[in-house]
Parts: sequence; structure tokens; C-alpha cells
Amino acid sequence: MSIGPGLRARYLEALGIDVWVPRNDRPFLPGTLPSSVAPATGRAPATPVAALAAGRSFSPESAATAAIGLPDASPDDWPGLQAEVLGCTRCALHRGRTQAVFASGDRAARWMVVGEAPGADEDRQGEPFVGRAGQLLNAMLAAIGLPRPDVFVANMIKCRPPQNRDPKPEELAACRPYLERQVRLLQPTLILVVGRIAAQNLLATDAPLARLRGQVHRVGGLNTPAIVTYHPAYLLRTPADKRKAWEDLKLARRTFGELAAAAVR
Ligand code: SF4
Repeated sequence: MSIGPGLRARYLEALGIDVWVPRNDRPFLPGTLPSSVAPATGRAPATPVAALAAGRSFSPESAATAAIGLPDASPDDWPGLQAEVLGCTRCALHRGRTQAVFASGDRAARWMVVGEAPGADEDRQGEPFVGRAGQLLNAMLAAIGLPRPDVFVANMIKCRPPQNRDPKPEELAACRPYLERQVRLLQPTLILVVGRIAAQNLLATDAPLARLRGQVHRVGGLNTPAIVTYHPAYLLRTPADKRKAWEDLKLARRTFGELAAAAVR
């Protein structure tokens, strides 16, 4: 979907972000491909994105690789995986849930969002990112030209932790194979990781979120590019950081465009 400047301005206003456009920030129109990807020569890629697009490593300082192993080599399918999640009792969280929250969105999506865990609204409705945080996520995605239904949205943890506490390590470990299988089935071009818990677990690090932002990571057995930003629930509590989130979204949009351009060469 392409959105005009007026519509984007309204989305940014909904995000609480002043409307401004950096000199080189041209509007993103799916189908128009940025020209900044390094050509496929023997020279070192000029940017982390170019390095990733070329399937080559950049530097350990700027491109972290997380070790999510594929759980097994057996064939998988969406209905089977969803049924497994909805009936799962692998950790204690199944006892307090109304229902497990599998995911939402297009199962052929090129974009994936990964968050932390369902809250009360999500547990009731069976969908990730509903309620106020979900509305803000929708506005964030719309600001970079992505209708929510075109994005596959999932959480690290599929069942609601009581009182919305942080998930325990054993719960994250028990649930992680489901996310890995979702990534393997979807094979997204880019993952947008929202929030500290999701970022630290997906990237297998205890680095603070501030250090994980602003770079392109690789995650999983498929080395999927991933970019980290704030959780919408955090942004609702800390609106001053919305401007930083907008920087992350622009990086994600630019990275996706460069990866898409490299894929069609
Ligand atoms: S949180 Fe994950 S591992 Fe735990 S019961 Fe729910 S689906 Fe199973």
C-alpha cells in the first residue's frame, strides 16, 4: 500500500511525532526500490544492510547473530502448528489462560512483528496486539505504509502471564520452538522486534534495548534480518521515546527496501 504525505502526517500525528522529513528520506512506495544497495562486486559492502542483502557478514560490533536453532527437521504446516499451540500444556501458563494466542496477519507476509506475550485483551480476544498498544502498533506500521493485515504478528510467549508479569526463563524456553517454527514457515524478509523482553530473548543477549536499536541483526536458522524497537505499551507510558521509535521504523523501512531490491537482482 502506498500512502500520501497527508495520510502519513496524520499517522505520525497519531504517534505523537512532529512531522518532519529528513533530506534523503524519500517516501516509501512498495515497488520503488532504493538505489543504495552495494553492487555485487568483490568489494566490501558499504553498509550493514548491503552486507546482509549480499548474504555477507558485516562487523561483529554492528551485526549481532543470534543462535536460534531449528527445533527439528520434520515438515511443518500452519494448521498443524496452530492446533499444537492452541492445545499446548508445555508450561504452567496454560493453567491461567483463556486461550493461547497464536498470531495474526497474512501467512505469506514479508514483514513479521515479534512482541513479548499476550495481555488481558489479547487473552480474551485470541489475537496479539489488540487494545491501546495494538492501536499504536497499527499506527506505527501504517506510518511506514504497512496495513496491519499485511504483517504477520506474533509473540515470544503464546499464553498470558498472570498480572502481566515478565515471562519466566523456563516459560520462554518452553514456548520458543513455536516462534522458531512460525519463522521457518513464514520466511519473512524482515522481523521487527518490539520491546526489551522479545529483543533480549530473540537475540540471546542481556544487552539493554538502547544498545540493540539502530542496527540490523540476524536471527534464527534462516539468518532472518531483524530490527529492534520499543514496545508500543512502553511508548504509551513514555511518549518522549516515540521519536526514537520513528527512527527505528525508518531504518526498518529502508532495510526492507534494500533487501527487496537485492532479492530481485
Ligand atoms: S506459553 Fe507457550 S509453552 Fe507455555 S503453555 Fe502456552 S503455548 Fe505452551
